[in-house]
Amino acid sequence: MAYELCYFGNPVLRQKASEVAEVNDEIKELIGEMIRLMKKYNGMGIAAPQIGVSKRVFIHTVRGIGEDGYPVYGSPKVYINPKITVVGDEEWTEGEGCLSLPKIYEDVTRPYKIKVEALDEDGKAFEEEVDGWLARPVLHENDHLNGVLFIDRILPHRKKLLAPQLKKIKKKFSK
Ligand SMILES: [Zn+2]
Repeated sequence: MAYELCYFGNPVLRQKASEVAEVNDEIKELIGEMIRLMKKYNGMGIAAPQIGVSKRVFIHTVRGIGEDGYPVYGSPKVYINPKITVVGDEEWTEGEGCLSLPKIYEDVTRPYKIKVEALDEDGKAFEEEVDGWLARPVLHENDHLNGVLFIDRILPHRKKLLAPQLKKIKKKFSK
């Protein structure tokens, strides 16, 4: 099956994705395609719905924080059927973009620290507590599994300003 990137306006991005029943070859192929398309479009993360597959799988490439306080990128980390718990009540705001919303970058406020339980690409369960730049991509990509886009989390007046741009994306990529 030939996968392609899905853009804002595609209904698959608004669906609640279903759990992966078994981490089999089909899921491994899906992950391979996600990595291929993420790299092709220079993304730092991608969720399965963004390539048209409504399943609870995402990847991101933030591996740590550099001395400048910004993310260091590396090989993609896979999350299947993730469960996220917010730790504490600290929040922070940073700019975000999304492969499905080209050329849009907006500040998004998110929890600072989270706990994640998920399966890796071999179906093995893992648990991690991450914060800051390691938590943000997990929260962004996990939103995709629930049909939520980062523009749903920006200030209403900013969203209003984006309306013409969003309309353009919808028009350009809908067939
Ligand atoms: Zn995204």
